Amino acid sequence: MTNLSRHVSIATLRAPGEKLRLWLGVAITLMLLLVFADSYPGIFVAGLVAAFLMVRVSVAKFFGDSVKVSETQFSEIHRLTHIAASRLGMEAPEVFISYAPVLNAFSIGFAGVRAVVLHSALVEAFSQEQLLFVIGHELGHIKARHSFWSILTGHSLEIPVLSRILSVFFLSWDRKKEYTADRAGLIACHDLEAACRSMTKFTAGPLLADRVNLGELLRQKSRNSFFSYMAELLVDHPFPVNRIQALVEFHASDTYRTALMFENLDSSQIRPSMVAAG
Ligand SMILES: [Zn+2]
Repeated sequence: MTNLSRHVSIATLRAPGEKLRLWLGVAITLMLLLVFADSYPGIFVAGLVAAFLMVRVSVAKFFGDSVKVSETQFSEIHRLTHIAASRLGMEAPEVFISYAPVLNAFSIGFAGVRAVVLHSALVEAFSQEQLLFVIGHELGHIKARHSFWSILTGHSLEIPVLSRILSVFFLSWDRKKEYTADRAGLIACHDLEAACRSMTKFTAGPLLADRVNLGELLRQKSRNSFFSYMAELLVDHPFPVNRIQALVEFHASDTYRTALMFENLDSSQIRPSMVAAG
């Protein structure tokens, strides 16, 4: 681990309000479980067991229908993963590339399983700097234990009607954790342009992303801001324009500057292979 691991704690990377939302959700959940203790303890325990088994089965499935990244299999992704892990002060998880036409990536961090899955479309369309951002983002989810809490709260709360209300509440936490993971992604890639361009690929698509004027994209954010805010309440990921704005603000923050100040990595670790990923 580098010196960075002593300075970039996940506590400093968390987006403001993320932990508060999680703990409020967990507290409400526990209260509901107590209230409905007579009827639902079996469902709660069954949900936990199902979650554990589901994670194990999912990862076993990746070994069968996806490609596991290694030093000799998609070695550039392997190297980027280790750079991101080093910069975030954590162990590198297993990484899989899975054939899928949608730009996406996700992580699993539960019951001793730590894995990142990259869709093939994303690996094909993203530059190495952008992949470093995405991999750092997913590692941020694992480091912040987002996956653990997502599975715990998502699969163990099969309480009719009330689980619907809780899911709306947890959407607020879902959006906050994306901001936290974006910060981890920026720490991993050191490249605001790459981070923002990653977002434009999710917005305009991989072929048009480079033509997007970032300044104008941010200015459109102020249009219809009230209804835009209301629309965002219904989704689990913040709108890309808001994520770009948050990345720009974090890039200018003391936290980001401090993180890089203590890092002792040679930038040549990345530069020689800045070619299109594939
Ligand atoms: Zn995420």
